[in-house]
Amino acid sequence: MPTCEICGEEVEDIYVCKICGYNFCINCGDPASEECEFCEEEDEI
Ligand SMILES: [Zn+2]
Ligand SMILES: [Zn+2]
Repeated sequence: MPTCEICGEEVEDIYVCKICGYNFCINCGDPASEECEFCEEEDEI
């Protein structure tokens, strides 16, 4: 299974951040906008 690069968990569904390229799981970002939690925070400013 792929591994989330943010929390380190192995998950079935992985998403790729369109900004930084990190692989992230459902708990570590927004799959709808394809942004990891780090890039999501920057967007909210
Ligand atoms: Zn994660
Ligand atoms: Zn990101």
